[in-house]
Amino acid sequence: PFDVLIVGGGPAGAAAAVYAARKGIRTGIASERFGGQVLDTMGIENFVSVKETEGPKFALALEEHVRQYDVDIMNLQRAKALIPGPELIEIQLESGASLKAKSVVVTTGARWRNINVPGEHEYRNKGVAYCPHCDGPLFKGKRVAVIGGGNSGVEAAIDLAGIVGHVTLIEFDTKLRADEVLQRKLRSLANVTVLVNAQTTEIAGNGQRVTGLSYKDRSTGEAKQVELEGVFVQIGLVPNTEWLKGTLELSRHGEIIVDAKGQTSIPGVFAAGDATTVPFKQIIIAAGDGAKAALGAFDHLIRSSAP
Ligand code: FAD
Repeated sequence: PFDVLIVGGGPAGAAAAVYAARKGIRTGIASERFGGQVLDTMGIENFVSVKETEGPKFALALEEHVRQYDVDIMNLQRAKALIPGPELIEIQLESGASLKAKSVVVTTGARWRNINVPGEHEYRNKGVAYCPHCDGPLFKGKRVAVIGGGNSGVEAAIDLAGIVGHVTLIEFDTKLRADEVLQRKLRSLANVTVLVNAQTTEIAGNGQRVTGLSYKDRSTGEAKQVELEGVFVQIGLVPNTEWLKGTLELSRHGEIIVDAKGQTSIPGVFAAGDATTVPFKQIIIAAGDGAKAALGAFDHLIRSSAP
């Protein structure tokens, strides 16, 4: 069996693998797609000490770093169940195989919820964005829309209003759902327009980049257009934890509940990164968190088994 088995090969999983392997313990990492969300990212400019890089390049660097160590890398493996046992924890894979370990670090990440309108997929990274911390500066002085009036949408609109020229916030419901304090802040900003009861129907472009957005005014049924250069979709981040439902304690958003050392509700099972309750979903945070969970797992091992 593995001493530490990591499930998920994004920044959190890669950092956990390096930290575990450096303790000289038997380490494995099983992931569906090594690199994770970073593979879908264009420019990365906020991983401190790396002024700028590209997602696929960063993903390759993660894998190369892990390969410096004696880590059993199992790629294209999707976990379907975690079964705790008295001695060992079992991870069952979709392939039918099963892996056993003394401790597990779950780093299966998350995915942005898509709005599924024409143009969203086509213009992804060409004006359609999901992460204001990451891509906000690319729209300096330009016009953008934020779709979604929950906390993340309103926070994104406030954040972007300080960078871009103009923000149109679009909410499907008749009112915003964000905290009142955020709504007050939002309404105090001169370069923000709030549209409620508005159903986004299409993200339009010129073949190269986004040029506008169409929506239906749900009170009148009228179709309307806004000209703009960017659209931030902020209708939720979904953790990849469906396979853990009923096993690990999850928050109401499906995030794995962890303590300060990354310990979950099951002894010996740790978790890190976007799949967890740790706030602010970013590469550097996920990587730091993965390191922390691996050290948490090591701490657990030296306390629970003979060396
Ligand atoms: P992920 O990167 O999501 O990795 C999860 C891993 O788990 C993957 O290997 C996946 O294949 C695997 N996995 C999932 N389910 C299973 C399963 N059942 N079994 C086995 N493996 C599984 N952050 C920044 O800091 N800067 C940026 O510029 C930036 N830009 C972004 C742009 C885009 C388009 C996106 C989508 C995100 C961006 N982010 C950015 C956010 C950043 O990518 C994430 O915060 C970070 O990747 C989270 O790392 P993670 O390891 O927790 O999860």
